[in-house]
Amino acid sequence: MIDCVFCRIIARQTAADIEYEDAHVMAFKDIYPKAPVHVLIVPKRHIASIAELSDDDAEVIGRCFLVARRLGETKGFADKGYRVSVNTGPEAGQVVYHVHFHFTAGRQRGHGA
Ligand code: 5GP
Ligand code: ZN
Repeated sequence: MIDCVFCRIIARQTAADIEYEDAHVMAFKDIYPKAPVHVLIVPKRHIASIAELSDDDAEVIGRCFLVARRLGETKGFADKGYRVSVNTGPEAGQVVYHVHFHFTAGRQRGHGA
């Protein structure tokens, strides 16, 4: 079994503040938020990083963006705006090797982290 913190959250073996869940995707608050709103959107299937994506993952990755849209709407940022970002690999600062989309909102920020 892969020792993966996000797989443990998905399996409810580790606590998280879950914002959204369906059969394919889960979204939960980042434990160390870098913005007033900081939610991580993850495919339930373990995929290590964008660099590991295969054609079979196309649908679930699309679903992650649809969850981002939903969070933007439910949290009141559809008009104000929000960022959806993915770190890939060591030089980008990826720490958790289970693909995740950072949904951040609530602060004016320029490009980059
Ligand atoms: P990365 O740098 O890999 O793109 O981002 C990993 C993110 O996961 C970080 O923002 C970090 O705060 C968050 N994180 C790491 N461990 C946990 C955890 O156990 N629970 C939650 N909710 N977030 C975590
Ligand atoms: Zn995982």
